[in-house]
Amino acid sequence: MTATVLLIEDNAQNRHLATYLLERHGFVVVPAVDGAEGIAIATTLRPDLVLLDIQLPGMDGHGVAGALRAIDALRTAPIIAVTSYAMAGDREKALAAECDGYIEKPIDPQRFAADIAAFLPLPLAGAVA
Ligand code: MN
Repeated sequence: MTATVLLIEDNAQNRHLATYLLERHGFVVVPAVDGAEGIAIATTLRPDLVLLDIQLPGMDGHGVAGALRAIDALRTAPIIAVTSYAMAGDREKALAAECDGYIEKPIDPQRFAADIAAFLPLPLAGAVA
């Protein structure tokens, strides 16, 4: 299978690194630079998984997660929060708990794609070890 990941991340460097690592492991990555764009894309894209940076400009991660949950097509797609370990407070932990899982920044390039794949119901075909 090929899995499509909706990557909602405002930082260009983080976006590029995550995209590179995921594409290398067989994912299709669709980027969004903020919550509004992510929600707009999610309504038509039907991603298999959403990676949600919870520190976003404008609409915060809480609002974005709630809006994504309300989209019918996303009912079965895991929403994975991306949190900054250094800044993780109670509020971020609570938000991460609303999602299906979380990944801490800085991401570990060695295991990032495998960690994401673990949230999917089926293994990826053609993944690079
Ligand atoms: Mn951010």
